[in-house]
Amino acid sequence: MARFVERNQYDWFSTIWKLAIFVGIVLFAILVVYPWKGFLPTFILIVAGLWMYISLISRTSGYVCAKCGKAFQVPTTVNFFTTSSVGKNPDGTYYSYKNLTCPHCSQQSKARLVKRVGAREAKGTGKLLK
Ligand SMILES: [Zn+2]
Repeated sequence: MARFVERNQYDWFSTIWKLAIFVGIVLFAILVVYPWKGFLPTFILIVAGLWMYISLISRTSGYVCAKCGKAFQVPTTVNFFTTSSVGKNPDGTYYSYKNLTCPHCSQQSKARLVKRVGAREAKGTGKLLK
């Protein structure tokens, strides 16, 4: 069973890496593919890159409902068409959230991004969420 833990700075680091790869694909598309093949292949490559990036994030993350505190996952398609926002914790650190409807209590809330881990990995570091 999948468990969810709070993200730490290493998770932000891996997110930045994935984002950097995506930015690399976009730059490649604009600088190389666009002058060479034109608009449509460039557009397709950027969308494909974005899709890859989001599906990577979707597979390794979940969201925690702000209303009932339960964690859930969203499919790549939902992740693709919803925007992420960044909020600030009272202690000055940042977190990422989306306005999502919770499958447990069916209320819409600012669901915060958490890391999805295997049951074994969930032991040890981080606060375990429901
Ligand atoms: Zn809920």
